[in-house]
Amino acid sequence: MDTIAAAQVLSEIGYLLRQDPDEKFRAKAFSGAAWSLAIERPDLAALHAGNELTSLEGVGAGIAKVLAEVVETGHSRYLDRLREQMKQPARDDESVLDFAQYQGDVHSHSKWSDGKATMLDMARGAAAMGYRYLGVTDHSPRIKVVNGLDADRLLAQSREMAEVQAQVPGVTLLQGIEVDILEDGALDLPDMVLELLDVVIASPHVKLRQEPAAMTERMLRAVSHPHVDVIGHPTGRRPGSREGANYDFEAVFKEAARHHVALEIDCDPARMDLSPEMARLALELGCSFSLDADAHAPAEFAYVPMGMWMARRAGIPQDRILNFLTLDQLTMALE
Ligand SMILES: [Zn+2]
Ligand SMILES: [Zn+2]
Repeated sequence: MDTIAAAQVLSEIGYLLRQDPDEKFRAKAFSGAAWSLAIERPDLAALHAGNELTSLEGVGAGIAKVLAEVVETGHSRYLDRLREQMKQPARDDESVLDFAQYQGDVHSHSKWSDGKATMLDMARGAAAMGYRYLGVTDHSPRIKVVNGLDADRLLAQSREMAEVQAQVPGVTLLQGIEVDILEDGALDLPDMVLELLDVVIASPHVKLRQEPAAMTERMLRAVSHPHVDVIGHPTGRRPGSREGANYDFEAVFKEAARHHVALEIDCDPARMDLSPEMARLALELGCSFSLDADAHAPAEFAYVPMGMWMARRAGIPQDRILNFLTLDQLTMALE
């Protein structure tokens, strides 16, 4: 089993443990170990042979034991048990997703809003991952604490982007926004601004506990907006700490499919939203998906290879995921 596949096993264990508030710390340990595997890509077989798995960052004796079994058998009985306890389907992974064919991430942040790195560092990070494109999608003005971007700042950002693009020619930078879906479903920037951007991710961040009927209206309005390309972390949940929004998922997903608006599978271990179960429902209703890291620092790009199991468990084929499109195909899809 290759290192990325092993990282996905640890990531899924972390995700399942996270559903139980008492297991919060163990969940974080598994997610952290998965992350370090996805970043470092160590030769697990060699480390296991030398009895050195615990030399990996974030891998203590307990996780090393799980990892040893994965290296030896390609399988984890601990994961099987957790799936059973959490009433997850026992079926094996259904779709074939190959991270080597992943073309680029369309949802990321920089210091222009709440990211921790400059756009140049993010672009270099994407180049290091082998990506062909990167969507730089900082926040919109509504969320004051993250210094969201209005039209003037977007213009200033586009100038910096041109400079960064010249320095990192291998990765095509797409200027985008993660625009807030306001309480009534309107978006936090005027159409004439959204229209100029390469990629528009509309996300619910606040007032997630709205009544389901109002929340359904809000999300229906957002998915039918002509400039929206992707709905970011569609429920806003944080497993183990915050319940997500509740709405008529079937109605909203159907409408998203009708408008060719993709639903995001956000691989940040604190989000993992949509869940595999909900993503499967969306798949059956005809939706396409964006599989991204929502990275706020270059190292977070590794959330995608470790979190890819979510899309696989949902049975989503590669051709329904935006990030497997070539740049030309993606540009057409985003028009
Ligand atoms: Zn967000
Ligand atoms: Zn984001």
